Amino acid sequence: MSNIQHTTSFIELSQSALAVNLAFIRSRLTTGATFYSVVKGNAYGHGIREFVTMSKACGVDHFAVFSADEAWHVAQVPGKKPAIMIMGMLDDAQLTWAIEEGYSYFVFNRERLEKSLAMALRIGRPAHIHLEIETGMNRTGLDDQTLDLALSLLDQYPEALKWDGICTHLAGAESIGNYVRIKKQHIHFQKKVKYALQACDQKPAAIHEACSAAMLRYPKTHWDLVRIGILQYGFFPSRETFIEYVALSKEPIEDPLRRIISWKSRVMDTKMVPAGQFVGYGTSYLANAAIRVAQIPVGYSHGYSRNLSNHGRVLIRGHRVNVIGMVNMNMIQVDVSEIPEIFVGDEVVLIGRQGEQEISVSSFSEYSDQINYELLTRLPQAIERRIMTQ
Ligand SMILES: *Cc1c(COP(=O)(O)O)cnc(C)c1O
Repeated sequence: MSNIQHTTSFIELSQSALAVNLAFIRSRLTTGATFYSVVKGNAYGHGIREFVTMSKACGVDHFAVFSADEAWHVAQVPGKKPAIMIMGMLDDAQLTWAIEEGYSYFVFNRERLEKSLAMALRIGRPAHIHLEIETGMNRTGLDDQTLDLALSLLDQYPEALKWDGICTHLAGAESIGNYVRIKKQHIHFQKKVKYALQACDQKPAAIHEACSAAMLRYPKTHWDLVRIGILQYGFFPSRETFIEYVALSKEPIEDPLRRIISWKSRVMDTKMVPAGQFVGYGTSYLANAAIRVAQIPVGYSHGYSRNLSNHGRVLIRGHRVNVIGMVNMNMIQVDVSEIPEIFVGDEVVLIGRQGEQEISVSSFSEYSDQINYELLTRLPQAIERRIMTQ
């Protein structure tokens, strides 16, 4: 990309942080379980192309996505062809495409089951399916009757339907408040797995149930395959899971994960504001004394939430300074009076480290009333991502 096309802010991705996170995940994994890297939501905002490139460099070769467009992006990344599992949406044309490409996908209703068989027979290539079982989340999942139909079709058409997996998804394993519901789901799933294995001559290549929180909290959910999203990006699924991890360890420990993402911009302008004047739109910020204000070219159109009006913090020259006034569409203003010298072009850290200071994603998401998952995935695809190899 030529210099002229640079966006007003950019995201840096740390290759070494990813290596640390992957080592942690692998250390917690039951021997033999396959690790699927979940890269839906533009790799949780990290940038699907860049993140998959980085992951492949670390030897990851299984990726899970929500939709066909995401699968396509994963497939575009140069290098060895990875295994791709599509967990959500596929229309008819995309279903055919997935079968042609040999990607596996979730089957959670009768329509998709019957279409898979019909398409596979028509194009003469097998459909690789994961039977997703309804166990209590009440989102997507096969009911008993459709499961029976699926099992009989798997036996009738072993050339057209390949049984890649039997799986379910837990409804909030990151919160202890959901303990009873999760346990019930797990027991329900165990029963269905046992039933399905007896009822069908074909055997599933993998049984799977765990997301990040389940992998940490419920080792019995590891089975043959885990689907890990948030942990690989360096975040515990919730504060609770982090505290539990620390509390259960025998020795004092630090956070074993490293954040991969930093979000940076540059000072666009600075100006003095006399005492007694309002700053920016409306009257939400009054300068009680003469202050120096810096303008940063990042606003809500770039994913900087309006909730951070008069609340946000950024780092400039090692100082933590406050956002004052409203977050605009393309700009924020910060009070830089405490910084002795400041210049147009100075680095501004919106998320990440500068010197001794850090703006963490979690503090950022608390201020803006979002969870980590939401904040990250809302970072626009258009912001330039840079892979930092050191
Ligand atoms: C998003 C997702 C995951 C990964 O969840 P994390 O909490 O990020 O690990 C796993 N399975 C399914 C079905 C998902 O949709």
